[in-house]
Amino acid sequence: MQTKFIFITGGVMSGLGKGVISSSIAKLLQLSNQKVSCVKIDPYLNYDAGTMNPIAHGEVFVTEDGGECDMDIGNYERFLNQNIPKSHNITTAQIYSSVIEAERKGEYLGACVQIIPHVTDAIKNRIRKIAKDENLDMLVVECGGTVGDIESLPFLEALRQMRVEDGPQTVLFVHVTLAPSLDVVGEQKTKPTQHSVQELRRIGIQPDILTVRCTTPLQDVAKKKIALFSNVSVNDVFSCHDVPSIFMVPQTLYDQGIVDLIFKKFAKVGLVNASANWDKWDSVVKSLQPVDNKVSIAMVGKYVTLADSYVSVNQALVHAGAKIGKTVSIEWIDSETLNGNIENLAKFDGILVPGGFGVRGSEGIIKTANFAREKNIPYLGICFGFQLAAVAFGRHACNFDDANSTEIAPTTKHPIIDLLPEQKNVSNMGGSLRLGANQINVKENSLAHKIYKSNLITKRHRHRYEINKEYLGDLTKKGMSFSAESDGGKRMEILEIPSHKFYLGVQFHPEFSSRPGFPEASFEAFVRAASNS
Ligand code: GLN
Repeated sequence: MQTKFIFITGGVMSGLGKGVISSSIAKLLQLSNQKVSCVKIDPYLNYDAGTMNPIAHGEVFVTEDGGECDMDIGNYERFLNQNIPKSHNITTAQIYSSVIEAERKGEYLGACVQIIPHVTDAIKNRIRKIAKDENLDMLVVECGGTVGDIESLPFLEALRQMRVEDGPQTVLFVHVTLAPSLDVVGEQKTKPTQHSVQELRRIGIQPDILTVRCTTPLQDVAKKKIALFSNVSVNDVFSCHDVPSIFMVPQTLYDQGIVDLIFKKFAKVGLVNASANWDKWDSVVKSLQPVDNKVSIAMVGKYVTLADSYVSVNQALVHAGAKIGKTVSIEWIDSETLNGNIENLAKFDGILVPGGFGVRGSEGIIKTANFAREKNIPYLGICFGFQLAAVAFGRHACNFDDANSTEIAPTTKHPIIDLLPEQKNVSNMGGSLRLGANQINVKENSLAHKIYKSNLITKRHRHRYEINKEYLGDLTKKGMSFSAESDGGKRMEILEIPSHKFYLGVQFHPEFSSRPGFPEASFEAFVRAASNS
């Protein structure tokens, strides 16, 4: 079986929501009973997203198999409700490393190793291998960056070659552009789209389909103009106007006939009636719509200036709210500037501290964790928020005044959080954290067990530090309990305070496995507790 490929390119500028359009097209194909997956190409020189600051590039999404990936991988997982392996996030660094490694091994003996054909071959092989290994009907490949960037050229060239090699009935190009209007009633401008398609054609790629981002539905006159200047038919131009939720984008594209068009272009027969799939998806999308009944959550973290830096946490809260018929209103609070205003946190129904790294803002997080405990406000601490909750407890309940994590204060007398022993000799920062899915044993008669209803769960991790077991005795004596562990009892995975309304810290990242319609259990329990408070 020959997998069909849909390549998504971006024009005009970044931030147009290419990831959402890619996910939406993949979703529509999945709803049409196709075995589909998504790949993200990131043309930067980082090997993976792991070493990038989330404020610059959005959240680092962790896959089941321990990849530190671009946040679009998270979008794909949430739209498709399916795990995506790390091999689906391709970077320039990975491609070049593999080519250079092969060259050193002598695999190209005699040849002058070049971008074309060696790098482009490596790119094509990587994409085709995914399609073949996973036996896919269709694979959506999103190329990051904007057409015209130097960085993405080798990738676009590889995609161009695939179209020539496999033919138009196997490879389609979808180009995402923008039609801005200067004021609300104003004319939608098509020139940026015209230019970006020209740029694409200059490197040999003729788009088959254009999805045009705009604030209001794309007017016919703009559509016609775009079609004419882009060398496509009017039916190939799709309006991708603003909708209240990203999960409504599939419907928007479906209503304009994109599924039929893709099947026709692929000369694929037998488009099935998938109304049962649609009904399920529709009810999920509807459940995510905002309602008047609100739960207010303070999210206290380090990377709050960019909403995208905690996108999975935000989404997980939305999924959890939808499950109990409420809308979670999230206020992001910078832990660095919180200090004097800690009392303001009292007005929230719940407090969440997500993951984080490093010294900056950590004191604010420790104060927050302590405030939530003292004021009996539902608290969910994730990773850093778990670790610093233990530190706060050490300081204020056990009276270890300088208790800390050695990540923050390497010489503290009370290192309640310390490096994982196997990390002590690690010197490379990239890809060396404890990553990906690990099994966790949950103890009975605990809040954790009530939440997960199981003795064994599997959750994704991303950390270098952990609870120092020497302090377990002191912490438990004062009322903190450790209700889950992993690696044969070597590490603590969940903490709770049974006397508190809802105080839960998790060493893992529950947000990465929450999906629309299937909220992750700890988020659901937290939002429920917050809504009852
Ligand atoms: N900085 C902490 C660690 O490395 C927490 C990491 C996180 O929150 N993802 O263990």
